[in-house]
Amino acid sequence: MKIRYFDHAATTSVDDEVLKNMLPYFSENFGNPSSIYSIGKENKEAISLARMKIATILNCKVNEIYFTSGGTESDNMILKGIAFANKRYGNHIITTKIEHPAILNTCEFLERFGYRVTYLTPNSKGIISATDVERAINRNTILISVMYANNEIGTIQPIREIGLIAKKYGIYFHTDSVQAVGNELINVKTSNIGALSISGHKFYGPKGIGIAYINEGINFLRIQDGGHQERDKRGGTENVPGIVGISKALEIATNNIKNYNRQLKELRNYYISEVQKRIPSTKINGDMNSRLSGNANISFSGVDGSKLVEMLAEKGICTSSGSACSAGFVKSSHVLLAMGMPNFLAKSALRVTFGRENTIEDTKFLLDELEECVKKLRNI
Ligand code: PLP
Repeated sequence: MKIRYFDHAATTSVDDEVLKNMLPYFSENFGNPSSIYSIGKENKEAISLARMKIATILNCKVNEIYFTSGGTESDNMILKGIAFANKRYGNHIITTKIEHPAILNTCEFLERFGYRVTYLTPNSKGIISATDVERAINRNTILISVMYANNEIGTIQPIREIGLIAKKYGIYFHTDSVQAVGNELINVKTSNIGALSISGHKFYGPKGIGIAYINEGINFLRIQDGGHQERDKRGGTENVPGIVGISKALEIATNNIKNYNRQLKELRNYYISEVQKRIPSTKINGDMNSRLSGNANISFSGVDGSKLVEMLAEKGICTSSGSACSAGFVKSSHVLLAMGMPNFLAKSALRVTFGRENTIEDTKFLLDELEECVKKLRNI
């Protein structure tokens, strides 16, 4: 059966060029970057080069880039690292109800250690108000963490405005940009971002590799103890193939970002307009103006979203009913509920996220099957 993949917010395939760049580091270039002989030194050099490329793209300094095992670790490293290092200045953190579990569960962990967390509610379109962020600040606030783009509904938050507010009050500002990187150009300086999380597998890079950008002025405590790697801020032998891969993937994504967005937007808009024409009682979830180009999240009233995903999967179509990390759990999306959506409608959502290999033909196939499946499920 042909697989038609429409779940690019969950993960992406590794780009051929990225893989080609990584392969030597699994075999002939296997040295430990901390070793002093040539095959070690060369790998240290490869890491430096990758760090330089990434710093140039994000517009930050080389020593502000840390390699991690992915988005989850970057979020943990930044939130816990900043919270623990700055407790004497305050114990209050501001975040949102629509964050990924990597942020929400880290905040819950910090609450057990005496931190107070304000979880902001988005509007009905899934947008966080910068004014609400400002209103939530008190004299104990040490950190604001608001995601760049949401993983379920693709909404892009007013990052620049929030960054300005954080700057005005002298509060550290972190953004989980796992879903945005590769889709949006991010300049940490002009957006006043103090810390940022990135994951390689969301933009045709490998899994198990991530980046934490942390401004050199930020006081943070090392969370992963071990050796002296990453300038003593994250112990553990470096994932050299992953580091080479993520830097190449970021470079390719940045160079192609305009065309990529155009392609995705065309497919996404076609899909949404056809769904609206062909299937009654649907609701588009999330703001359509401030949104990632490839994201379509639609509720099909009277349909169980997880059943819909299962039926489409039987036809070789890969989609999601919520975020991939919560797939398998029959639970309404915390994002849609936070937007004020009733439970029955939140449970009927289907997330389709377009990517590089999708074509108009595949989208037509998806639409035909979707129409059939929705009809069947509504008849049950
Ligand atoms: N943050 C967001 C917004 C995500 O979408 C994800 C993954 O889906 C993560 C964090 C976790 O990233 P990783 O899978 O690299 O741990």
